[in-house]
Amino acid sequence: MTEPVPVPVSSWLDELPARLQALDDAHLLRRRRVVRPLGDGYLSVDGERLLAFCSNDYLGLAGDPALVEAACAGARAYGVGSGASPMVSGHSAANAALEDELARFVGLPRALYFYAGFATNASVIPALVGEGDALFSDALNHACLIDGARLSKATIHRFPHADLDVLAAQLAACTARRKLVMSDAVFSMDGDVADVPRLLALCEQHDALLLMDDAHGFGVLGPQGRGTLARFGLIGPTASRRVLYMATLGKALGVAGAFVAGDATLIEWLLQKTRSYTFATAAPAMLAEALRVSLRRVQHDEWRRVRLADLVAALRQRLHAGLADTGWRLLDSPTPIQALIVGDNATALALMDGLRQHGLWVPAIRPPTVPAGTARLRIALSAAHTVAEVERLADAIIELSPRTSQETTA
Ligand SMILES: *Cc1c(COP(=O)(O)O)cnc(C)c1O
Repeated sequence: MTEPVPVPVSSWLDELPARLQALDDAHLLRRRRVVRPLGDGYLSVDGERLLAFCSNDYLGLAGDPALVEAACAGARAYGVGSGASPMVSGHSAANAALEDELARFVGLPRALYFYAGFATNASVIPALVGEGDALFSDALNHACLIDGARLSKATIHRFPHADLDVLAAQLAACTARRKLVMSDAVFSMDGDVADVPRLLALCEQHDALLLMDDAHGFGVLGPQGRGTLARFGLIGPTASRRVLYMATLGKALGVAGAFVAGDATLIEWLLQKTRSYTFATAAPAMLAEALRVSLRRVQHDEWRRVRLADLVAALRQRLHAGLADTGWRLLDSPTPIQALIVGDNATALALMDGLRQHGLWVPAIRPPTVPAGTARLRIALSAAHTVAEVERLADAIIELSPRTSQETTA
């Protein structure tokens, strides 16, 4: 007979309320809002009608009737779910066709279509490097690259954001046989574009593989929206086999999922070894059908990128003029991600609330998503917006800025 094990009276689970309270006290408690799209960039947020500057639907395609129709037709043809891993019976004709079209579009030999971007990076990295290998990671890389790096057990060398001199020194000093450099192509919270040509040149020189996460550049940058590699002319028959391109399909493409593209043998290796590909249910064919239509839209609707460029210029021009000597700082960014650094968490939250009272919804982004002391407003522009709407946003921000507020209270 075994002794009955006594049940402890207290538990670490009892600490959770106090830990949640501590997050709240530090202005770090995150709250979800229940939203419904109202069209043209407007959202119903907890029942309130707001103009939203928080979506990564940069081209305004998520609600496009042609994509919706393609998804419905896909559901009628294939059902709603894919039923199994792509290694079993989940690799539909729609998914296969999408992979071919994605590879052609980004100008690389082969592509592999995943159900989500986070799972792609978290799992592709451990498929490529392991214990004894070396990883080189920009300090501002997305959380899923960081998690993939940790999962891999490779030695991680972090370099300061965009400091490729440090990266060059780290690569030169490294004796590991397998080296992987990874970077956001467009940094998700700052909006700046990585120096891809120099990153790739360093990788060529040191026999490293370059993983570029283009979640925010695909569809937006480069000729016809072919992405950040295309923007630098690094695709096509002369593309390096040392680049692994990754992009997500839930942002500018307006649907969901992600893909990696690159050298055919490299992609075959990832097909064999990426656990989130093998051991996860394949992305539904209805989404692949919506994505195939979205790809054509992205390619042909040049007006969406032209509109975005106009909006970026209008916002930057107005904020630069209106926020001089406020201490608020608009980061340099040519992309639809425009970050306004205000400093502390409470100021960022107060600004977000103030804008909400103007009928505008712009998210405050706080640590740990961004470095401490750089709480910010992350303004995401979309082809669904108009110049007048963006100017309305800029004017509201200027009205709520420290200098203007002091003037009005003095
Ligand atoms: C959004 C994002 C991802 C994750 O993609 P999902 O498809 O949303 O899981 C990966 N990398 C970057 C840089 C992102 O911004």
